[in-house]
Amino acid sequence: EAAAAAEAWRGPGRTADGTEVLILANVADGASARAAAGLGIVEGVGLFRTELAFLDRPDEPSVAEQTELYREVIDAFDGQKVVIRTLDAGSDKPLKFVGLPEEANPSLGVRGNRIVLTAPQIREHQLDALAAAARGTTVVPWVMAPMIATVAEAREFAALVRAREMVPGVMVEVPSAAVQADKILAEVDFVSIGTNDLTQYTMAADRMSPELAALTDPWQPAVLALIDRVGAAGLAQGKQVGVCGEAAADPLLACVLVGLGVRSLSAAPAAVAPVGLKLGGVTLDQCREAAAAAVGAESAAGAREAARAVLG
Ligand code: PEP
Ligand code: MG
Repeated sequence: EAAAAAEAWRGPGRTADGTEVLILANVADGASARAAAGLGIVEGVGLFRTELAFLDRPDEPSVAEQTELYREVIDAFDGQKVVIRTLDAGSDKPLKFVGLPEEANPSLGVRGNRIVLTAPQIREHQLDALAAAARGTTVVPWVMAPMIATVAEAREFAALVRAREMVPGVMVEVPSAAVQADKILAEVDFVSIGTNDLTQYTMAADRMSPELAALTDPWQPAVLALIDRVGAAGLAQGKQVGVCGEAAADPLLACVLVGLGVRSLSAAPAAVAPVGLKLGGVTLDQCREAAAAAVGAESAAGAREAARAVLG
């Protein structure tokens, strides 16, 4: 089915009535970025998970080495949108060189942007490398921080990114950030919702637990209600709200996200064609109607059914 969709859909991302929705790729390094660009349908990178290249490293990679890696991804998407996430260390992605403390609950501990509490220089070095990688290219990186929980964290991060002439954003993957989306958006130029973690933290259910799969379903109406809040804030302020979690790879849910105000969707490259195809067959009004019905449902299954009744 995905192969058939790839044949049928060549982009760009838009609803049947012409609302533009960027269809972007999640990548991990130069090779995966070149493979994504080679498909000829994605409109840029929506999430470059920088930590994945360094998972086994005992020492912090030098700024020069980081620059080279980031440059490979930027070069693959010359002149297009490239959204790069600063290191999301900790929890399920321990980075040896960050020297994280032993914690009973790592997913609630020093992870993501919180490493500045113990090792602030690592983020500084990474931002220097990102700025160096973009120098002399046609790409102005959009740089976002993971695991932002407060307005102050967003403000502090934005200043560092702007000082290096890049575009600052944050991920919304902690419920507090979704609740305060209007205030956080006022500090940054864009946000990207990480539905994997936003669902985990909203439902208090470990995303790695097979027993809890029914709870860690991004169709949970409580999760959709938080996304609704973020999307509305983005539309009100004219700032881009994207989704880069697994939810963006589900064609039906992607349409619901657009109905909630999301205007960029980033997923594994193999997943994007079915999303683009589905979106191209529905109007923005249908997406909004489906979104309202899904948010109003009382269960994940009910939300899915309500959306399907509108969108087919
Ligand atoms: C997310 O949490 O949805 C996300 C995109 O980040 P990661 O899966 O890398 O935690
Ligand atoms: Mg995450």
